[in-house]
Amino acid sequence: MHKKKFPESIYNRMPYLLEVFESHAVRHHAKWYRKFDYEPDPVGREENLEILMVDIFAMLLVTMPAWATLMWFSLLGGIIFIGVFFVHRFLWNTIHKQMHIPEDVIFRNWKSYRFLARHHFLHHQDTDKNFNVVFPLTDTLFGTVGKAELGDIREMLRLGYLLPRSTRIQNKFQAQGIPVLGANHP
Ligand SMILES: [Zn+2]
Ligand SMILES: [Zn+2]
Repeated sequence: MHKKKFPESIYNRMPYLLEVFESHAVRHHAKWYRKFDYEPDPVGREENLEILMVDIFAMLLVTMPAWATLMWFSLLGGIIFIGVFFVHRFLWNTIHKQMHIPEDVIFRNWKSYRFLARHHFLHHQDTDKNFNVVFPLTDTLFGTVGKAELGDIREMLRLGYLLPRSTRIQNKFQAQGIPVLGANHP
């Protein structure tokens, strides 16, 4: 999704692979949502915020040796393996959309959601880090966890994904009209 790893001839023969790269690396990262913030463009704001059904089938095709073998030994295991693709898709789509087009949803102030939002925010600052939107533990396993710079911390505070620890700073933020999500409002 982020790098063209195969020779150009493969992309010429498989336009789907090229589209996966271009829609994510080129359009989602480099054109829209470069700063993670709200994208006002009516075309860009909706593009590539969701994993499409066609992507699920492509991934199921690629991983068929794994789940078919698993199914050979345990039918239930194989079904769960495939089911996770769909559960992951639902979570990924719901969360990723909320990150880029914040709406007043029930989970917007949840600690777990803010943690995931910070994780994905840093992915948009460095596309070699924090690949996983839903299960950030995989980035820990693969050693791809990004580190926040001072500017990132400031921006995450402004977006409300990071809370200032002291109430004095929370109050200062609120006095300046900067929303402090999840803070104890009087
Ligand atoms: Zn994103
Ligand atoms: Zn990405």
